[in-house]
Amino acid sequence: MNLKALIRPAIRSIKPYSSARDEFHGRNDDGLVFLDANENPFQNNLNRYPDPQQVLLKEKLALLKKISKNHILLGNGSDEVLDLIIRTFCEPNQDAVLTLTPTYGMYSVLAQLNAVKIQSVPLTSDFQMDEERVLSAVQDNTKVIFICSPNNPSGNLIHPKSIQRVLKTFNGVVVIDEAYIDFSSSKSWLSRLYEFPNLIVIQTLSKAYGLAGIRLGICYASEEIIAVLNSIKPPYNVNVLTQNAALEAISNRKNITHQIDTIVTEREKLIEKLQQISVVKTIFPSHSNFILCRVDDANKRYSELIGKGIIVRNRHGQPLCDNCLRITVGTPEENLKLMEALQQL
Ligand SMILES: *Cc1c(COP(=O)(O)O)cnc(C)c1O
Repeated sequence: MNLKALIRPAIRSIKPYSSARDEFHGRNDDGLVFLDANENPFQNNLNRYPDPQQVLLKEKLALLKKISKNHILLGNGSDEVLDLIIRTFCEPNQDAVLTLTPTYGMYSVLAQLNAVKIQSVPLTSDFQMDEERVLSAVQDNTKVIFICSPNNPSGNLIHPKSIQRVLKTFNGVVVIDEAYIDFSSSKSWLSRLYEFPNLIVIQTLSKAYGLAGIRLGICYASEEIIAVLNSIKPPYNVNVLTQNAALEAISNRKNITHQIDTIVTEREKLIEKLQQISVVKTIFPSHSNFILCRVDDANKRYSELIGKGIIVRNRHGQPLCDNCLRITVGTPEENLKLMEALQQL
């Protein structure tokens, strides 16, 4: 893969905005008088712009993930990171991204927003990637392949062998979205970053870390890719409140680990109990914090559940998801309510 050639010419030649805090950032700011960013000087803990490079947070993450901080880019949710990737590699009205359907809806929304074509290749009936089909669908203008593993909405892991084949063969960038990796027994692709210069791994604090509200997406890639994404990101894209909350969560991981264990245990219990519900026809294997199941009539059961105060996601109408509902694993109490409601249908 020739990275230089993959990057859009307009991005290659961009001169990044240099913020006040980029031009001067003291490690120890004590005693310094900052008159460079037109901020309000009166302290309220939020009167200063955030660190544009989120150094403290990246150092913590780097330690946790055993990787250099130069391999990390942070965004306002994964959605911002995904958008930056598309804008870096795909020329509007010319290039294309490839997605494996059914999958997370934002890949195609962001592609459309950037006037980038979408090539969708369906997953197999057991929601696996047919890598032959993917590789033969690739054209000269295919720049990015999005692989969501564990996949949303199916919940399963995509076989590592198929992913590896695509990583080795495809001449563009392969994005592996690991939003749900903490609920899986499988290893993150992060450990193989050094093997594949075209690999980008995306994670988030929105799911396992219980911080969907702060919007923090994490991108891991080669130093070269990170440097390019960095040059086009909005300067202050991760705000002070988010950086502080993320630092706190990463420093106190005990609680999170316990919650993840509970969710995984509850998931397995739910799968067992769902098998005894007559309207449930198929339960798909899950490596995530949700379960996809096929019911007799998804639209009907979805409305009935709303009537009982329980909101699930109706995925009927998505490819391969006829009559499927996606159910997030809740607290033990919430899951009991769900089961009671399902038994009454
Ligand atoms: C929920 C989810 C995300 C998270 O997006 P954020 O913008 O980080 O909240 C990313 N990818 C997939 C597949 C998801 O389901």
